[in-house]
Amino acid sequence: MSTFDDLPPLRAVIARHDLQAKKQLGQNFLLDLNLTAKIARQAGDLSGCDVLEIGPGPGGLTRGLLVEGARHVLAIEKDPRALPALAEIAAAYPGRLTVLQGDALQIDPLAHLTPPIRIAANLPYNIGTELLVRWLTPPAWPPFWQSLTLMFQKEVAERIIARPGGKAYGRLALLVQWRCDARIVMTLPPEAFVPPPKVHSSVVHLTALPAPRFPADPTILSQVTAAAFNQRRKMLRASLRGLHPQIETLLDGCGIAPTARAEEIDLERFCALARALGVARNAG
Ligand code: SAM
Repeated sequence: MSTFDDLPPLRAVIARHDLQAKKQLGQNFLLDLNLTAKIARQAGDLSGCDVLEIGPGPGGLTRGLLVEGARHVLAIEKDPRALPALAEIAAAYPGRLTVLQGDALQIDPLAHLTPPIRIAANLPYNIGTELLVRWLTPPAWPPFWQSLTLMFQKEVAERIIARPGGKAYGRLALLVQWRCDARIVMTLPPEAFVPPPKVHSSVVHLTALPAPRFPADPTILSQVTAAAFNQRRKMLRASLRGLHPQIETLLDGCGIAPTARAEEIDLERFCALARALGVARNAG
């Protein structure tokens, strides 16, 4: 018996339901219920909240979220083999766990959730970034969630919180930090998972800002950062040439050296450039 709930240990659950991990589904399971409860606590006060979990697998984090008091957990799992194990958890917590089987990229969870909503997940590595970007952009913006507490490969987590001046800094950092406060709250070694992945993993906690950190039109900001980082080794006067005929003047006007490279420019300056570009296009 686990010390946390009356359900069997996860190793026994996996053995009984024949849930050997499949690489193509990004399955690296957390079996230590101390650890999953700790991750659930990083999601904040869950009482009175609905929690959306992507990829519950055998249910370690799901159990952590329920033990930590989530009002209701909506779990979306692609692998039908996990359903019997998840049904046992649902039976132990009547009315508090709903499981939808399918691809999280295809399912709209909103009809099954009541605010306030938090999202917590040990994400399948192959769709983690795509889900994050979706939760930060229209039509899912303004956000339906209060916070995101998400496990990524450590390298992806570092790209999310990166500051200017390094290889990790790029479009993902700018998108996230424009709209959210984001921090790494936990880093786990490969041995924390079964089977162990090749790399370390980190949990990132994100909360949405009431308004973007600096004003800018989202479409223009996205065009600027895409052009700048798609050719990140080039000087900005070259990589941004296609955006406006007087790009050097616009860069100068925002205090950006036309010879600078994308990774030297902070979020505030990218937003200033997006605004200047908007004004220049309207004038032209
Ligand atoms: N939450 C469990 C844990 O922490 O032990 C499992 C995490 S494992 C890294 C990722 C889970 O996401 C697996 O259970 C996998 O089957 C599931 N998954 C993979 N692709 C998915 C998709 N497109 N939609 C929903 N779930 C998916």
